[in-house]
Amino acid sequence: MTTDVLLDTVPHWIGGAAVAPSDGPRTDIHDPATGRVLRSSVQGSAETVNAAVHDASRAADAWAATPVPARASVLHRFRSLVVEHTEELASIITSEQGKTLPDARGEVARSVEAIDVSLSAVQQLKGEYSDQVANGVDTYSFRQPLGVCVGITPFNFPIMVPVSMFAAAIACGNAFVLKPSDRVPSAAVRLAQMMSEAGLPDGVLNVVQGGTETAEALLDHPDVAAVSFVGSTPVAREIYRRSAQTGKKVQALGGAKNHLVVMPDADLDAAADALVSAAYGAAGQRCMAVTVAVAVGEAAEALVEKTAERARAFKVGPGAETEIDMGPLISQVAINRVRGALERSVEDGGKLIVDGRERSAPGDGYFIGPSLVDNVSVESDLYRQEVFGPVLGVVRALSLEEALRIVNDNPYGNGATIFTTSGPAARRFTRGVLAGSVGINVPIPVPISWFGFGGWGDSRFGDDGLNYDAYRFYTRSKVVTQRWIEPTQGLAPHFVAAGNQ
Ligand code: NAD
Repeated sequence: MTTDVLLDTVPHWIGGAAVAPSDGPRTDIHDPATGRVLRSSVQGSAETVNAAVHDASRAADAWAATPVPARASVLHRFRSLVVEHTEELASIITSEQGKTLPDARGEVARSVEAIDVSLSAVQQLKGEYSDQVANGVDTYSFRQPLGVCVGITPFNFPIMVPVSMFAAAIACGNAFVLKPSDRVPSAAVRLAQMMSEAGLPDGVLNVVQGGTETAEALLDHPDVAAVSFVGSTPVAREIYRRSAQTGKKVQALGGAKNHLVVMPDADLDAAADALVSAAYGAAGQRCMAVTVAVAVGEAAEALVEKTAERARAFKVGPGAETEIDMGPLISQVAINRVRGALERSVEDGGKLIVDGRERSAPGDGYFIGPSLVDNVSVESDLYRQEVFGPVLGVVRALSLEEALRIVNDNPYGNGATIFTTSGPAARRFTRGVLAGSVGINVPIPVPISWFGFGGWGDSRFGDDGLNYDAYRFYTRSKVVTQRWIEPTQGLAPHFVAAGNQ
């Protein structure tokens, strides 16, 4: 198999084949490391969305009737292809998204983990059975797929987020229509091609390229049963509202402001190492990036010094080159947003310890270095708004209780971490903090995929998260009460309590 899906114009993938887009608004896809246009994509029209949903609807019933182990076998072959093509997939990620190749390989590895979870669909879809709940009556439950599910995904994980959605949805017996970010569209088509090669029937996985209008056409489509979204909070909130309005099941994961609390008893070198990797890795373009360090008591001075030293040593450059710690941002717009946030942070009283604007890199790529701002006020824009770039703010607290109040007053609740050598402090933190993923002495507490993933507060709208939780999202439960009537038995005409029937 070749990478012939990487054409000048990125295709859709409908009915098991690449489909050249019809005319429509174009988006140039840039290599963030050079600013060069690699190719372009065309906004999927309402007709294209209709075609994709129609094909998915046609394929859904037969796929739902396919035995669960047979569905898992397709995903097993897909897993092998993803592993075999790790380098190719990583290089697609790096070329369109900008992250370093080792980080892109890590993204592919995390995607493989999500596929692994989907392989245990037989186990996940097990129901419950209560024997003899009344005379001759048993009650049992089992889970059934929803039909056509849609995924709308962000630019920062072009492979991991789509795979974590569609592998679970398809293992559960659904058909899926993916609308990837229009800034990183190619990986999705390549993944769909691999699913086909793995034996997935045509129509079970479709990809429609485009931006807001394409997403809206999918959200409003009457044949779509469920919507999975990952992206920024304002869009997540709107997707949740719009999907719920038309009766769709919806999970919408949003943005974040993740805190790392450093207690005075912590190993400060380990904490500073964690801060730079969690704040500046992937140029801060991770939903689980740490953007606020809460330095408790006397930890502050040494922590700021050690973090600044490491931030200055962080190597910024093209993600495809070796020995690079951090690649470019996704676009010039993102660079301008980071610059604006730094300017306002100083106006708001923050102290700029490391200024990433001084480290713009060669050429026309979208580079900016890591920044560290001390004495950030919790009222400032830098503290309250997601910057989504390599900027770490330091907030000071006098005690663990004050640190917890700071973390919990923030409207986001994606992830939070504590660095400490005190068991009681760690336990108090983990029990009291308002966040979906919590870490103790780890930089980024993204759990392995055999646990659910999703934030609290403004970081998630809807109940179920991704990964292990996805089985609940992509299915609905049916409860059956059965009695096999002996020829001699009759049925009581009135409602009676269980056990007396
Ligand atoms: P984004 O919200 O701009 O776009 C996400 C997706 O939604 C894209 O496919 C985009 O085309 C589409 N979209 C944009 N506006 C829309 C609208 N009005 N209606 C319908 N669809 C719309 O996000 P992004 O810039 O691509 O990604 C970065 C954001 O994603 C950050 O906020 C980051 O924190 C968040 N994120 C969250 C998680 C998580 O697990 N919570 C994971 C990754 C990224």
